[in-house]
Amino acid sequence: MSTAPSTFCRSSVPVVEEHVALSRFTTIGTGGPAHFFARPKTVAELQEVLAFAAGEGLPVAAIGLRSNLLVHDDGVDAVVVKLAGELAEARIEDTTLVAGGGAPNAVCLHRAREAGLGGFEFASAIPGTVGGGVMMNAGAYGVEWRDVMVDAVVVDAVSVRRVPPAGLGLSYRHSGLAPGEVVAEVRFQLVPSAPETVKAKAAELLARRKATQPTNKRTFGSVFKNPDDGPGAGRLIEECGLKGYAIGGALISPRHANFIENAGGATSADCLALMAEARRRVHDATGIELRHEVRFLGPLVLPSL
Ligand SMILES: Cc1cc2nc3c(=O)[nH]c(=O)nc-3n(C[C@H](O)[C@H](O)[C@H](O)COP(=O)(O)OP(=O)(O)OC[C@H]3O[C@@H](n4cnc5c(N)ncnc54)[C@H](O)[C@@H]3O)c2cc1C
Repeated sequence: MSTAPSTFCRSSVPVVEEHVALSRFTTIGTGGPAHFFARPKTVAELQEVLAFAAGEGLPVAAIGLRSNLLVHDDGVDAVVVKLAGELAEARIEDTTLVAGGGAPNAVCLHRAREAGLGGFEFASAIPGTVGGGVMMNAGAYGVEWRDVMVDAVVVDAVSVRRVPPAGLGLSYRHSGLAPGEVVAEVRFQLVPSAPETVKAKAAELLARRKATQPTNKRTFGSVFKNPDDGPGAGRLIEECGLKGYAIGGALISPRHANFIENAGGATSADCLALMAEARRRVHDATGIELRHEVRFLGPLVLPSL
């Protein structure tokens, strides 16, 4: 697949480009190009892009801030959608935060703080968007997306639906969103709180995170989900002696074993091989099958145990 970006001109869809490199977009800094890349700014444009994908017979992959993504080194044969314009903005209505699916969590927190609203501080150090947060039911420090959401606007090739959390199948780092469904807007119910209180709480949570995680390195966040019972994934990997273990440019973080760092020149294949090795070692030592939290884009598969 060529990596030279170009504007798509076979259709009337004005927002689709071809062969856009994704490595510069992912927080781990790896991955090949998207076959087609679109930046719709309105629901109407998003529907146009989804109809285009359906017409081409291509799958759709929405991306947010790419903080939980491992993209195949050869790229993705799909229409990759990154929400922009009004679909990436956030505003306050009374005590409700109304955010486009592409709005960064940090921007949402800023809007909430300005308006004297609390309840979203837990998300301030999750480096993603609200749409990515729905897909992952993202959470930290005991609060998850589903706890504060009112509803989400879900768009696919044929419909635009407003769906409450109960209809989204949200559980630990999981949603029931189907392939091709894009979260275009999310409403969150917040509560009055003084701006300085919101700021202090967010700062405290960020400091806690910095004390235990490699926040200054290129990673994709937690590699594996924590098992339902017993020690967390990081502890299990650490107990296999894998902290600091590397394959190619991918390194199991010496700071927290459930993170993979791009130590320089890592490829997605390096990351995948490292994940496979950690998973195999944990399984050999404990019988536990770790499930990956990071989302794969393109034909990436972990070997079976
Ligand atoms: C340093 C670091 C710390 C992190 N800490 C946490 C944490 O504490 N808690 C936590 O839960 N996560 C954490 N993460 C992981 C990640 O930030 C979250 O999963 C985040 O919600 C992903 O959002 P995103 O916009 O970057 O999504 P992406 O990584 O771009 O995509 C993730 C998934 O969401 C889908 N998606 C994205 N946008 C949309 C949309 N609009 N509609 C439908 N599907 C969409 C993608 O297709 C993909 O399947 C961390 C990551 C890093 C790098």
